[in-house]
Amino acid sequence: MAASDWGLNVNENWQYYNSRAGIALSFLFPLLVFKTGFEWHWLVYCLVIHRVHVFGHSLCLHTYFSHKAFKTNRIMQFFLGIIAIGSHLGSPFQYTFLHQQLHHPRADKEGDPHSPVHGLWHAFLGWRFKEYVTSSTGQQLFRLKDIYQYADPAFKNCPEMRFICKHCFEIQNLSFPAFYLIGMFVEAYIPQMGINALAFFVYFKAIPCALSQFGLLSINVMGHAKWYGYRNFSSDDNSRNSNLGFFLWGSTCWHNNHHYMPNSAKTSFTTRETLIDVDYLIVLMMEKMGLAWDVKLPSQKLVDKGIMEGVKRPPRYRKDKDPDDDEDDISDNPDYKMAA
Ligand SMILES: [Zn+2]
Ligand SMILES: [Zn+2]
Repeated sequence: MAASDWGLNVNENWQYYNSRAGIALSFLFPLLVFKTGFEWHWLVYCLVIHRVHVFGHSLCLHTYFSHKAFKTNRIMQFFLGIIAIGSHLGSPFQYTFLHQQLHHPRADKEGDPHSPVHGLWHAFLGWRFKEYVTSSTGQQLFRLKDIYQYADPAFKNCPEMRFICKHCFEIQNLSFPAFYLIGMFVEAYIPQMGINALAFFVYFKAIPCALSQFGLLSINVMGHAKWYGYRNFSSDDNSRNSNLGFFLWGSTCWHNNHHYMPNSAKTSFTTRETLIDVDYLIVLMMEKMGLAWDVKLPSQKLVDKGIMEGVKRPPRYRKDKDPDDDEDDISDNPDYKMAA
């Protein structure tokens, strides 16, 4: 698979070294915590920012940009793009190419860039330092640097998205000194926050950023590990759900549900999962406010086809219309319907 013709025309080596520098800094800067020390209210700040990063991954990069599970306006889309880039996990275009085009169609098979069936270290971090995705016989299947050139044709009329995707690594790396400067401002002018510049940098930027990186890398392993989690659907891969994973991965923690119905805006399925699905709640709130529309949910037919024996269906699905009645289905894919 080649990158889109409507490419970003970036210097691949510059992108590569910028992205690797970002990963290294993400794991080194948190060590400054030994210099700053610890305060409980700093931890609260850190957890709030971390949650924003989790939304940047699960809701923005994954559900909106990669799977296009709902629509929104240009201003909101740009805002979601900024939150997505702030999570330090690459750009929306890169994520889409890697996740939606490479990972999903080949999950846990030949050509999956980061499956644990090819080794735990490979799935966690090793794959990011390889030049090619290779087959089990060593054949070069995809050149990973092509990801940097990819521009999602769905955003062809959005130059602002092209700009932030083209410069995402510069933006991400420059945000490190920027946060220290903001910390100096906060220390000087907002003393009520009770935090100095260095601690601001560590708890508002460095630690949330490291957790964000760790979250993305660990879901490659735990979301597809045969020995962890549970399954609701008989998908043709090793994907697993984990309610505990919601802390690090957001709604992508129900990875088996997601692999079975990847274009659904709602990743949780059972009542227990839905109770903590904050990402979907945000989509519903956006819909109520007129900021989201065409919110996709799986059809009853799709759910019935793959649900595993003994899995308790939530009431909402039983109230769905007749599975063969696709009259109100405005999506191109009959497996997905508009939310009721
Ligand atoms: Zn997956
Ligand atoms: Zn996905």
